[in-house]
Amino acid sequence: TLSDRLTSVFTSLRGKGRLSEEDIDATAREIRLALLEADVALPVVRAFIARVKERAQGAEVSKALNPAQQVIKIVNDELIDILGGETRELRFAKKPPTVIMLAGLQGSGKTTLAGKLGRWLAAERNTPLLVAADLQRPNAVTQLEVVGERAEVPVFAPEPGNGVGDPVEVARASVEQAERNNHNVVIIDTAGRLGVDSEMMQQAADIRDAVSPDEILFVVDAMIGQDAVNTAQAFLDGVGYDAVALTKLDGDARGGAALSIRHITGRPIMFASTGEKLDDFTLFHPDRMASRILDMGDVLTLIDKAQSTFEEDEVAKMASTLASDEDFTLDDFLQQMGMLRKMGPISNLLGMMPGMSQMKDQVNNVDEKDLDRITAIIRSMTPAERGNPKIINGSRRLRIANGSGTEVSDVNGLVTRFFEAQKMMRQMKSSGMPGMGGAPGA
Ligand code: GDP
Ligand code: MG
Repeated sequence: TLSDRLTSVFTSLRGKGRLSEEDIDATAREIRLALLEADVALPVVRAFIARVKERAQGAEVSKALNPAQQVIKIVNDELIDILGGETRELRFAKKPPTVIMLAGLQGSGKTTLAGKLGRWLAAERNTPLLVAADLQRPNAVTQLEVVGERAEVPVFAPEPGNGVGDPVEVARASVEQAERNNHNVVIIDTAGRLGVDSEMMQQAADIRDAVSPDEILFVVDAMIGQDAVNTAQAFLDGVGYDAVALTKLDGDARGGAALSIRHITGRPIMFASTGEKLDDFTLFHPDRMASRILDMGDVLTLIDKAQSTFEEDEVAKMASTLASDEDFTLDDFLQQMGMLRKMGPISNLLGMMPGMSQMKDQVNNVDEKDLDRITAIIRSMTPAERGNPKIINGSRRLRIANGSGTEVSDVNGLVTRFFEAQKMMRQMKSSGMPGMGGAPGA
């Protein structure tokens, strides 16, 4: 998947102090493959890579972030940008009703979206009217009526006098009805075909011409992959639209379609539909989509915090302790326990990093008394024992316990805990946790 690939790209940047030309090229290659695998259209991939490379080359070496984090941040920023930056708000007409028309292939989720949009608007004190202008399929009108009932939004359906059999007449009549009954928003559900065809396109264009919508939304299934671009372009040429609603984001599509459509059509993505229920609906947030595409979990949050909240030096100190190439010793263990306790907020940050939550638990399970005891025990060891705890046999344990005023079981507990921590550190270093890669900016 895209996320796996990107993760492995960033992992390979671990431990680099500075991004070299080769690093940037290698990273760009991997990101390119990852995006292509996620069904992002080739021209979009090219444009994206060019921007990421340009920024990575020009990037100042950050004190707060190591190179891997820096690249993640650049990729994330560029993803947000290519997805449209800010969330696009619905434009209301100066003179009501605001007419919203939905267009898209059959099964893309138009009728479902009409209900969601209606409910969402009604919750914000609008008085929407849903309009059944899909007269293509026998059940389409009934389906919208069911959706409207569930959403508690009235539905305008064709009946004698409303232009039975003629979707253009139904649409036109619905706007008049809205004016009469003070509906401030009209949502027109239209017919779709399984594939793009000229008859369907013409019908949508005729409805458009009859009611001059304030917003035409192109509704598209996020799962359709590479086809998204062709379909989006066909609708742009055939009907035109102001914004995009991306549906079925609850599926496992990572969002390649979103990247492509936004870039190729220049139209913003306005809504995201994430399930069959009426509430599975939100405004589209480019930053959330970027995180989804990256799938780096809370690492992005961590980066934000590392950058903004914490003193760069503290982060650097932390990272260099965690990432030095030397094996982890009892001295490090002691130092880390003390430091992590003092840096309370940073140990919370650890909890956000995949794999690091155990570390945080370890630290949080230590109270002051524990820490005193641990300190006493480690101080009672010889330097040789601290550097190489494997040599701490039974008689040494007894000596250490006596010297520190503790029990042998305390010494045993500490040694066990240390070996666990050491194992964890080794695993983290070899798995190349982002954020574990060398002292930031060093
Ligand atoms: P239309 O032909 O464009 O009107 O599409 P419909 O609204 O009838 O939706 C087609 C199918 O997709 C229906 O079974 C919907 O329940 C389902 N659907 C619509 N939106 C979503 C969504 O966001 N997630 C999921 N999982 N299913 C959806
Ligand atoms: Mg429908």
